[in-house]
Amino acid sequence: MNAAVNNKTALRSLNILNIFLLATHFSLLIFFAALHIRLMAYVNIVSVLWYLASFLILHKNGITLYIFATFAEIMAHMTLAVLSMGWDSGFPLYFIGCIAIVFYADYFSVRLGQRHFKGSNFSIVSGTLYFCTMLATRLWGSIYEIDTTLSFVCLAVNSLVVFCFVTLFFGMLTRMAHFYEDALAKQATHDKLTGLVNRHYLVEQLEEIYASGDMSGYWLAILDIDNFKGINDRYGHLCGDFVLKTVAEMVKSLCGDRIVCRWGGEEFVIVGNDHGKNKKGIDIESALLEDIRRNVAIKDFVYDPETTVNLTVTIGMSHYRDGQTVDEWVNRADGRLYWGKQNGKNKVVEKDMEPQ
Ligand code: GH3
Ligand code: MG
Ligand code: MG
Repeated sequence: MNAAVNNKTALRSLNILNIFLLATHFSLLIFFAALHIRLMAYVNIVSVLWYLASFLILHKNGITLYIFATFAEIMAHMTLAVLSMGWDSGFPLYFIGCIAIVFYADYFSVRLGQRHFKGSNFSIVSGTLYFCTMLATRLWGSIYEIDTTLSFVCLAVNSLVVFCFVTLFFGMLTRMAHFYEDALAKQATHDKLTGLVNRHYLVEQLEEIYASGDMSGYWLAILDIDNFKGINDRYGHLCGDFVLKTVAEMVKSLCGDRIVCRWGGEEFVIVGNDHGKNKKGIDIESALLEDIRRNVAIKDFVYDPETTVNLTVTIGMSHYRDGQTVDEWVNRADGRLYWGKQNGKNKVVEKDMEPQ
């Protein structure tokens, strides 16, 4: 979620809002002209022209100008509409409906790093006009004589518009909140480069597995790319990233639904729960880890037509032992990985080995 994305999202939302406001004012223009309510017909001609011009303002990224001017237009329009048509026409409802817009503008101004829009200030302006027009129409009546049937139809239509607007608006806001929440949750639990879960998430998962109480068959392996620094040094950091991503994809696809985590740097942790042996009589987890090691070793990592990288991995594995803490479990696998590194690399080490 960077500023550019937010700016784009804000502009998209404001363009949708502008279409809605243009259509509304165009309908109002026809409506007032038909009823010979001239003042409001003229007001709506100005409004329609303003919203047409607004597409240009939004196109030029004038978000601040757009929001201030739109707010001023809505307030002026609604004040004149209530004074012209009377309180019972339903136009005062827009003072309440537009509170949704002002807080939306407030939200985006914070996201965009600007603080021009204080939703509560705009809300106070809207509320003040609501009560002032309420008082004015009560004391002096409306500018135009409106028959009660027409007033009722206006009330019904305006209520429907505000109802639909508020429903659509909050529906959109809720979808947006879910989108950002999901994106944040993913950021907190997943590694950006490889898309694998991160260390923090794995530790949480292990705690949940521990809490379930049934640890039988669980094993944990640490996989470390051999001589990775040399790949970075020789082919560049971007090529290193490509290798990390490709190794992550390979490991993930070979591991099925086991947990594969980017533990950090060029190290990955795999956690599985396997029982039994494969057709060749080899433990499933041993066969899997050997498969990973072999597949990486024989693969050509083609970064670009001129750059093909070959590499190997070393893996240290440890089965869970009763009473072991997460740290002890990881350290045991790490010790075996270390032994593999010291003894030629490109190995899967599953037992404690004597130092040589
Ligand atoms: P060994 O075989 O003993 O594991 O040696 P190695 O070179 O793989 O290990 P070392 O710890 O010396 O170097 C790891 C390198 O991984 C150093 C670091 O710059 C690089 N690295 C860590 N994270 C990233 C990353 O996200 N992208 C890239 N391109 N490199 C990374
Ligand atoms: Mg390492
Ligand atoms: Mg390494």
